Amino acid sequence: MMIRQPSLIARLLKSSVVMLSLLLSAAPALAVDALAVSERAWQITQVLEKHLSNRFAGNQVETATADVLAEAWEGAGLMVQWQTFDFEFASRTQASRNLWVTIDGASDRHVVIGGHYDNAGQMFESHGTTDNGISVALIVALAEHLALHDEQPPFTLTFALFGAEELGMYGSQAFVRAGHADDVDAMVNLDTIAGGDILYIHSAPSTPSEHCADASTYSASADLREELIAVSEQAGLAFIEHPGYPGYAPGETGDWSDQRYFACSGIPIAYVEATNFSINGEEGYDGYSQTTHEAVWDCYDAEARTACNRDEETQWGKIIHTRNDQLERLLELFGNRVPQQMHQSSQLLAAWLDQ
Ligand SMILES: [Zn+2]
Repeated sequence: MMIRQPSLIARLLKSSVVMLSLLLSAAPALAVDALAVSERAWQITQVLEKHLSNRFAGNQVETATADVLAEAWEGAGLMVQWQTFDFEFASRTQASRNLWVTIDGASDRHVVIGGHYDNAGQMFESHGTTDNGISVALIVALAEHLALHDEQPPFTLTFALFGAEELGMYGSQAFVRAGHADDVDAMVNLDTIAGGDILYIHSAPSTPSEHCADASTYSASADLREELIAVSEQAGLAFIEHPGYPGYAPGETGDWSDQRYFACSGIPIAYVEATNFSINGEEGYDGYSQTTHEAVWDCYDAEARTACNRDEETQWGKIIHTRNDQLERLLELFGNRVPQQMHQSSQLLAAWLDQ
């Protein structure tokens, strides 16, 4: 794919008009207008899809994506902070960047809302729409909205976009290692917030990640998960904690996304994700099988909640890193579910900040 000039793509972010309102039910009036945030996020999603879908960690499109998103934030008057870091991949040292903005709030509490902007699965024609374009779009749009409307959040918020997650959470690891999370009280990771069957809020596993440099500082706190579940219930949203499954205690996920190193350094995390933990997937009940939709299985056994033939199944209900993770394909498979799920996360964060 030809790489277009970041400034040209940034202009598209200003000019494209997308009518999402018709797809979504009206939101109650909030200090943060969740519907406006969702409409803007949907617009950003489409620009990512059309022009920046091959943003593999370390490549030129990943670089261009960060530039374009930074320009959007700067256009809202936000000061973007950068961190460049190295990582090893394919036997050579490569570079990527994290970028973030901080909006001061009314209290001393400091929360990071973050997600990764690189993607993977290009060889299988993935565009990284749900993993993790939609989350990125929401993070950018919410920060922009707060800045443009001069809204002071109840606590200080850092909106962070991490590079090189797919190859081993290098961006979020570098962020934490450099001390940028030293005064952070909580971290919300948005990774694949749309696409899968069920909206979840997870907490970190009770057992410390083997990747923590020091297991003694690890936090498996479920406080933030419970706080957000309560917000969801009050706002009439659909987020749940998954019940326990073999290998996964109720509400707990694995360490495979950007929340890992925050938990390692003792920070309570919550991980917002659309998937389906009730499926017995290729490697068990880990949420990697995201949907029971029959088009995403060779054969799904609804009663056993797994593949009809576990030895022969090739698709496993997976959206991420496959050709299913393209905007057009997602709309074909799930209709309005994808923008509606994005809007649920938008409403969740808006309701949380409206306190
Ligand atoms: Zn992801």
